[in-house]
Amino acid sequence: MTQIAFIGLGNMGGPMAANLVKAGHQVTAFDFVQAALDTFVEAGGVAASSAMEAIKDAQVVVSMLPAGKHVAGLYLGSEGLLANLPKDSLVVDSSTIDVETARRVGVEAKSLGIHFVDAPVSGGTAGAKAGTLSFIVGGDQTCFERAQPVLEAMGKNIFHAGDAGAGQIAKMCNNMLLSVLMAGTAEALQMGVENGLDPKVLSDIMVKSSGRNWALEIYNPVPGVMDGTPASNNYQGGFMVDLMNKDLGLALSAAQASNSNVPMGQQASQLFKAHGDAGYGGLDFSSIYQHYSNNKV
Ligand code: NAD
Repeated sequence: MTQIAFIGLGNMGGPMAANLVKAGHQVTAFDFVQAALDTFVEAGGVAASSAMEAIKDAQVVVSMLPAGKHVAGLYLGSEGLLANLPKDSLVVDSSTIDVETARRVGVEAKSLGIHFVDAPVSGGTAGAKAGTLSFIVGGDQTCFERAQPVLEAMGKNIFHAGDAGAGQIAKMCNNMLLSVLMAGTAEALQMGVENGLDPKVLSDIMVKSSGRNWALEIYNPVPGVMDGTPASNNYQGGFMVDLMNKDLGLALSAAQASNSNVPMGQQASQLFKAHGDAGYGGLDFSSIYQHYSNNKV
């Protein structure tokens, strides 16, 4: 049993913290939202009145926050958690944030003798509830090995991507590729349909041909083609366009910082941004299929 402080009980953090409790850890959590704390207490956790109170006696801190500014605000500076944690503590930040902030927190932690990993996740709210998330971890080998048992209580696949910040880079590369695959799949299916093809027949052909990819095989964007997909449920649930836009923004900033050439990522980003701006940000990202029929040239 480990004494864990958990900061950020949102859509992802709430169920993740509950899974740590289920695994037998002693978890004290903090969030600004009282209802989130109440739900956590019902799940067997302890509520704290501040992040500083939550880390009292904790050997491990896990955070799941919206963006880099929240993570920097929580950990850095004399009022931040790092300055107030004992040496040899372990800090796991699972938020999806910019690489620079992840690296900055990593460097500061190391200088204080604190183990840090960035460990963004893939798997969405369903994976958070089921405890089947994939964690993409950045940090040195010692930090990774220490984080592994904690992460195993919340996830199924734990990958070591490299040093601090590498988890964020790997996640951005994956999501940028996903956006390209989804946009390309939607585009091809839409063109087939407009030329009289049945989208199910066309999908069956392409899934056994060289156009085969995850979006086509597992997450078909055309309503009615596949049972259980967001597309067959009015694009509800799944991974929101707004979140894809956040991840694409992070990916393009990282690409700029490394002077990487990402024309496909830029193009996909423009498409998803236009779709979000048109009022569809709350739909699953496979709804980009509708963007094509809504925006005829
Ligand atoms: P959310 O907005 O539901 O939850 C964030 C929580 O953090 C909120 O409850 C907020 O009150 C709390 N918070 C913010 N600053 C805080 C602070 N200083 N101290 C304590 N609590 C604070 O967001 P979410 O959907 O849970 O996502 C969290 C992170 O996970 C994001 O970085 C997101 O990009 C990433 N992510 C989300 C999904 C998803 O499907 N929702 C999937 C993968 C990754």
